[in-house]
Amino acid sequence: MEFIRLEAYAKVNLGLDVVKRLENGYHEVRMVMQTVGIHDTLRLEKTKEGIALFTDSSEMPDDENNLAYKAAHVMKERYGIADGVVIHLQKRIPVAAGMAGGSTDAAAVLKGMNILFSLGLSRQELCDVGVRLGADVPYCIIGGTALAEGIGEKLTVLPDVPDCYILTAKPPVSVSTKYVYDNLRLTEIEHHPDIDSMVDAIRERSLSGIVSRMENVLESVTEKKYPVITRIKSLMEENGAEKALMSGSGPTVFGIYGNREDAEKAAENLSVAEPDTQVFVTAFQRKEQ
Ligand code: ATP
Repeated sequence: MEFIRLEAYAKVNLGLDVVKRLENGYHEVRMVMQTVGIHDTLRLEKTKEGIALFTDSSEMPDDENNLAYKAAHVMKERYGIADGVVIHLQKRIPVAAGMAGGSTDAAAVLKGMNILFSLGLSRQELCDVGVRLGADVPYCIIGGTALAEGIGEKLTVLPDVPDCYILTAKPPVSVSTKYVYDNLRLTEIEHHPDIDSMVDAIRERSLSGIVSRMENVLESVTEKKYPVITRIKSLMEENGAEKALMSGSGPTVFGIYGNREDAEKAAENLSVAEPDTQVFVTAFQRKEQ
């Protein structure tokens, strides 16, 4: 095989709690992760030597700082791959949005190189390499619905969430994940999301149970800094969303809709009210078999 094409999907967090700050600066988290149908496309081609990356986006680095490049570098080093790889990355996932755009590209490169260079690595081996690139990378390798604990790398696969429509909206502000965690005052948070009940609701396949437990503790930081997030949540809920929540460290907001027409109407209204917001109507993406 000389080349491979992969779709790298974005995620949202149906629930996100921060348990404590660890001594190494990381945070212990409990997150319910869900893949959505928005994806980047990567084409990996075998070459004689080196790593080259071409992208169609000016919003992220196109050199060795890109997570897709870093993933290729780690694979070459760790598995002694003498051949090279050219990566073409078509960016569609909003950048610095709380949708794991970089992590999912890295995960796709790990999976793609495993096939392209016939390495025969198991999913677990790929996850072990992935966690060195970012805490969300192992989840992105697996996809679907999952509980992520530890720093995000301890995964429990969950059943698929019942079908519904999703509207995602990324306002024109970029949020640094580090800023959000640095400004989270854990001792001042009186109420934490009930992640265990969310997991039960997923196992019971109860969409209303899931929706009623959707909470993200990081909203306390990002929403305060960017009031546009609150405006988007309200607009989505006034326009038929059963619930709207910020994903990850933000600023992307996603709303859950029972039918596509409502989601599309809300997207139109949102584009008028918040003109530079990137909106997508999509659905949850099932895990790969
Ligand atoms: P998370 O949800 O995992 O916190 P995010 O969606 O908030 O991630 P990303 O889109 O992954 O954020 O971008 C975070 C930073 O990483 C950006 O500043 C971006 O420049 C950089 N970056 C490096 N490689 C990539 C990539 N392949 N795609 C997107 N961003 C990348």
